[in-house]
Amino acid sequence: MEPIPVAILGATGAVGQRFVQLLDHHPWFKVTTLCASDRSVGKTYAEGCRWLLDTPMPEWAREMVLQPTIAEVINEPIVFSALPADVAFDLEPALAQKGCVVCSNASAHRMDEDVPLILPEVNAEHVDLVHWQRQRRAWRGAIVTNPNCTSTGMTVVLKALDQIFGVKRVIAVSMQALSGAGYPGVASLDITDNVIPYIRGEEEKVSLEPRKMLGVLKDGQIKFHPVAISAQTNRVAVLDGHLVCLSVECDTRPTPEEALRALESFVTPDWLMDLPSTPKPPIVVRRENDRPQPRLDRMTGRGMSTVVGRVRADEVLDLKMVVLSHNTIRGAAGASIYNAELIVRKGLLP
Ligand code: NAP
Repeated sequence: MEPIPVAILGATGAVGQRFVQLLDHHPWFKVTTLCASDRSVGKTYAEGCRWLLDTPMPEWAREMVLQPTIAEVINEPIVFSALPADVAFDLEPALAQKGCVVCSNASAHRMDEDVPLILPEVNAEHVDLVHWQRQRRAWRGAIVTNPNCTSTGMTVVLKALDQIFGVKRVIAVSMQALSGAGYPGVASLDITDNVIPYIRGEEEKVSLEPRKMLGVLKDGQIKFHPVAISAQTNRVAVLDGHLVCLSVECDTRPTPEEALRALESFVTPDWLMDLPSTPKPPIVVRRENDRPQPRLDRMTGRGMSTVVGRVRADEVLDLKMVVLSHNTIRGAAGASIYNAELIVRKGLLP
C-alpha cells in the first residue's frame, strides 16, 4: 500500500525522538510533518533537536523544518502526539475535528469516557469506542490514547492473570527511569546517588488507568474493572526502562507455577499478529532469580515485549513478581504506533 503520511507533535522531546527513530523505515507510515514549540519552530530538526538516542538521527529527518504546533499546518490522516498534557488538551480535539486520527501519549484525554485507552494485546476491542466518540463529538477524526509508561507493562501482566484467575487487589511499587521525565528532565544533582520517592500525578494514573483498560466496553461505555490498585512511584537513576514490583491477590488463589503458565501462554489476538509492531511474544517470562533488569532486558522484543520475572508466592496477597517495560518505546512512542496500526487494520481512518 501507499505509505500513509503522519505528523509528530513534540518531535524534539524524549518521546518525539523515539517516534522519529521507530518510524524510520516503517512499512506503512511516512513522516511528513514535525512540530515543536515556538523555541524550535523554523529550525531544521538537526538544529532544533538534542538527539539522545544511540542510533543516528535518520537522514530524512535532519533537514525537515520544525513547524508550529497549530492545527492549520497539520493535514496528515494520522498525528502522533508527544505533547505536554496542557498543550494537548485543546489541540488534540481541534485536530480530531479537522479529521485527523490523533494517537496520543499525553494524559489530557486518556480518561475521557469516549476516548479509548489501548494496549492492543489487552483491549483492542475498545477501539470501537471511536464510533461513539465520532457520534457524540460530531467529528470525523478521533483521539486514541495509550497509557502512562508505568501502567503499560503491569496492565499486560494483570490481563494475563485476570483472564484466568480474576485479579482482586494489587500493590504496585515502581522504579522509573529518567527518560520518563522527558528532556532535560530531573536535574543531575537531584538524582545522582539518589532515589526520589515522588512523581507528580503518577500514582493516581497507575491506580486508575489499568482499571479502564481491563474494563468492558458495552453500548459505548467502558465499565471499569473493579480491581483495587495501591501504587507508590519512585524515580531512579536508570536511563530507560520502568520496573514495577507487583503483589497481586486473585479470586482463585493461583500457585506461582500456575501464574507462570498463565503468563507464558498469554497470546495476542490472531488478527493482530501481523501488525508491524506486534511484540512476539507479548510477555517474556524470565525464570532466573535476578531478572528482569532494565539495562539487560528493556530491549526484549525490540522494546515492545513486557518482561516479567521473580514470580513467587506472596506472604500477604497471593503472588508477587517484577515487571519491566521500556518506557519510551512500549510505554510511549511504540505504543502509539502500535495503536495507529490497529486503527488502520480496523479501517477506522476517515
Ligand atoms: P519532553 O522531552 O519534555 O518533550 C516535550 C516536547 O513537547 C518537545 O518536543 C517540546 O518542544 C514540545 N513542547 C513543549 N512545550 C510546547 C508547546 N507549548 N507547544 C508545542 N510544543 C511544545 O517530554 P516527553 O517525555 O517527550 O513527553 C511528551 C509527552 O508524552 C508528555 O505528555 C508525557 O507525559 C508523555 N509520556 C512520556 C513518556 C516518557 O517515557 N517520557 C511516557 C509516556 C507518556 P521543544 O523542544 O521545542 O521545547
